[in-house]
Parts: sequence; structure tokens; C-alpha cells
Amino acid sequence: MTFHAKFSGYADPALHAAGLYIGGKWQSGSGITVLDPSTGNLLAEVADAAIEDAQRAVDAADAAAAGWRATPARQRSEILRRWYQLMTQHAEELATLIALENGKALADARGEVAYAAEFFRWYAEEATRIPGEFRHTPSGSHNILVDHEPIGIAVLITPWNFPAAMATRKIGPALAAGCTVILKPASETPLTAYAMARLGEEAGVPPGVVNVLTTSNPGGITNAMLADPRVRKLSFTGSTGVGRVLLAEAAKSVVSCSMELGGNAPFIVFDDAHLEAALDGAMIAKMRNAGEACTAANRFYVQAGIHDAFVAGLTARMKSLKIGPGYDSETQCGPMITQNAVRKIDRLVSEALAAGARATTGGKPLTENGYFYPPTVLENVPVNASIAREEIFGPVAPVYKFESDDEAIRLANNTEYGLAAYIYSRDLKRAMKVGKRIETGMLGINRGLMSDPAAPFGGVKQSGLGREGGVTGILEFMEPKYFAVDY
Ligand code: NAD
Repeated sequence: MTFHAKFSGYADPALHAAGLYIGGKWQSGSGITVLDPSTGNLLAEVADAAIEDAQRAVDAADAAAAGWRATPARQRSEILRRWYQLMTQHAEELATLIALENGKALADARGEVAYAAEFFRWYAEEATRIPGEFRHTPSGSHNILVDHEPIGIAVLITPWNFPAAMATRKIGPALAAGCTVILKPASETPLTAYAMARLGEEAGVPPGVVNVLTTSNPGGITNAMLADPRVRKLSFTGSTGVGRVLLAEAAKSVVSCSMELGGNAPFIVFDDAHLEAALDGAMIAKMRNAGEACTAANRFYVQAGIHDAFVAGLTARMKSLKIGPGYDSETQCGPMITQNAVRKIDRLVSEALAAGARATTGGKPLTENGYFYPPTVLENVPVNASIAREEIFGPVAPVYKFESDDEAIRLANNTEYGLAAYIYSRDLKRAMKVGKRIETGMLGINRGLMSDPAAPFGGVKQSGLGREGGVTGILEFMEPKYFAVDY
């Protein structure tokens, strides 16, 4: 791995791990360029894994599997706990790396590191509480004993938008369960993954338990690993489109899949909402990571009586945000990840404007260097515009006016996605009644942020399969084994 000089002032060189990480060994290489999204300049170049590297990673994960599975839960827990502590100690360097390669504002990057480290702390605790069951059969013929065993080698694929948290949300439960893993981070943001692997090494993760591969051929590498009968789990976070392709590939060898996919979150504001609280929540739900979050509010449904005040308040707040490189400490809205991301946002906004929407702020990409799109509020957006159906993944808030509760529910559910939703109302009974009818895996009531390592994160419909985090997250990496016992 080579580094651009820009790094020297920003990140701790101790975290500059080199190349692929397989079987506890670092293998340097090149081929994948990492760009600074605020300038488009080269930040670093990392190794590009070939199919043989993926096979070696599966060999390494397999060689480590029996030992890791047999390691007492307390010991696995303590390694995860040390990893949590090291991430906390190196929080500032990790946040700077994330801000550099992903572009998000430092405040968001710091928030991500804290959230990411918490998955190691949470699963350090859960590792020692793996449940079992003992039951009597209804017929009385025998007893039912249920054990949970590690599922086997797990392939973990993560996106660029939370390069630390999406990795720890998978590695934490997998290691706690007793599985060995191969992590394939997004090639836009590999540096965070490698830095975390370095810290894992220091925390005492044995060679081969965690392997990390960056590649420009994610399909070929993943297919090769899924075809290997030793791989028993695929845990994927990314777009619904790639998720569908991977589900089909995993079906060929009947590999267990956990899928955290795209979202299209509705944010419903009722007339009786506390306006300032709803605006605060809207800014968090929309602007965390400049809108590049699967839980990001994608559609604002605002009841007629509060609509104009909400649009005015949101416009004022969005307009006041400072745009700039994530690593500048005053920045509140960083660049998008790529020029393509800016193009997609521009297409969605232009189509909405052509269909009658009005931008109260923003509405056009910025023309300076880097991949910037300004905070934008759209009103009078047609409910069937493509911006209401597709993930925007950027700092754009389309607002739609509604009249009745039934109309809000119908609009909210009019999507193939079902990851997150938000409701603002002072009437908790109303919020709960509406919430029960929204098709979603997660619902924020009078809150713009719901992610928590102790809660089950995941979606319904085409937003995914399974849950990460919480007490059930570890079971995604375990198989129940039933013993029928007759004394
Ligand atoms: P993406 O689907 O393009 O890529 C995700 C990962 O899959 C990357 O590591 C990529 O290299 C890899 N990949 C791409 N094609 C592949 C293939 N054929 N085989 C194997 N791997 C392949 O998504 P992205 O653009 O990196 O991330 C944004 C998407 O992720 C959004 O849709 C967002 O909603 C979703 N997301 C979901 C959650 C969640 O928890 N539900 C969290 C974060 C992001």
C-alpha cells in the first residue's frame, strides 16, 4: 500500500497497515486507487486481490476455525473487549481516516467510530451469554435440548458509507459466536478496514480468524468463496440490487445469508408534532453522513397544518450548513463518495423539478473540485416522482403534503423498501397506531436516530433478511442443533 503525502498530517502512521491481510500476514500490493472525494486527488493505493488470494483467505479462515471455535467464550470476549478499547484509544486517527477516504464530516466520523467500537463491546458481553434450550416434548417421549454452534466460515461484505461500523457490526457477532471471517470492504474505503485489522491484531485476534481482502473484482472473488463448501455464511450490507445478485449466487451452494440492503425511509410529521423537535430530528435523519445512510429520511410527509412552517424551518437549517472536505473541522456537509453519486442525485432532483417541484434551497450540483452536492429542500414534489421511489443517498429533502393519517400510511408504504421510518407527533397513542401499520423493520418515534448496537437493526420487504446487533445478532452466525434425548 502506498500513501499520498496528504496523509502524513492527518492520520497515525501506526494505523497504516499494508495490503491484504490473510492468515495474520500482510501482503502488500497495488491496483486499487483510493481517492479523496473532496478533491478527486489520489490518497492511497491498496492491493487488489485475485481469486487465488480469496482461496488462500478461505484456507486461512479454515485453518483457524477449530482453534477459535474451541477458544473459551470468556477469552473470545476479552479479545473483542481489547479491540473495543484500542478503537477508542485510536478514535481520532480512525475518524480522520474515515473523513479522508469517505468524505464525511469529522463530527459524523467521530460518531461512527464510537458506534463501531460499541459493537465490539456489546458482542464482548454477548459472547458469554450464548443461549441454549431444554424442553419436554408434549408427548413426554423424550427431552429436547438445543445448542447453538458457530455456523462456520463467514464472508462479510461491507459498503463505503460506514466503513468502520458496517465491519464491526459483522465481525463482532461472528467472532463472539466462534466463527472465522473474511472481510471484503468497499474499494472506495479500504483504509479504515485495514486500520481496524491492525488494531485487531494488537488486541490478540489469532492469525486467520479475521482476514481482509480488497478487490476490483468483487463478483469473481465472492463467487469463488461462496462456491467453496467450507464457507457457510454470507453477511452482506449494500444495495438491494447487489443483494439480489448475491442471494442468487449463494443459493447455488445453499449458503446462509444475512442481508442489510437499501432503504427509502418516510419521515412523517403530524400537525400536532413539536415543530422544533421535528426539525432537529429531520436534520439528523437526513443529514447524518450528508444523507449517505441507509436509514436516511428519503421522503418527508408533512401534514397540511404544519407543512409551510416545517418547509421554512428545514430550508433555513439546510441553507446554514457549511460545505467542505470532511477533514476540515468546521465542515457540516462533506462531499458525496463519487462523481457518479452526484450525477444520480442531480438526475433525481432535475426530474422532480421538471415535474413541478420547487427547490427552496440548493437544487444543482456545485461546480468546484470534488464531488459536492449542496443541502437541498424540495417542495411540491409529485408523490410518484422517481425521487420518491429511489434512494437519494445525498443531502436532498423532498417534502410532500398530506391530509389524513390513512393517506400518510398509504404513501409511506408505497415502496419496495422497508428499513426505517420516522414519526413525529405529541400524541404517542396516534404515533404507535400509525407505526404499527408502517411496513418497516425500525421506527423512530420523535427521534431522528435509531441505530444502537443493543437493538436489532434490519429491514422488511426488499430492505433485507435477518438482523444485526442486539441479542439476536449473534444467532445470525450460529446454527441451532437439536439433541433428542432419552434417558
Ligand atoms: P453496493 O451494493 O454497490 O456495494 C456494497 C459492497 O458490495 C461493496 O463492498 C462492493 O464492492 C460489493 N459488491 C458490489 N458488487 C458485488 C458483487 N457482484 N459481488 C460481491 N460484492 C459486490 O453498495 P454501496 O454503494 O457500497 O452502499 C450503498 C448501499 O448500501 C445503499 O443502498 C445503502 O442503503 C446500503 N446500506 C444498507 C445498510 C443496512 O444496514 N441496511 C447500511 C449501509 C448501507
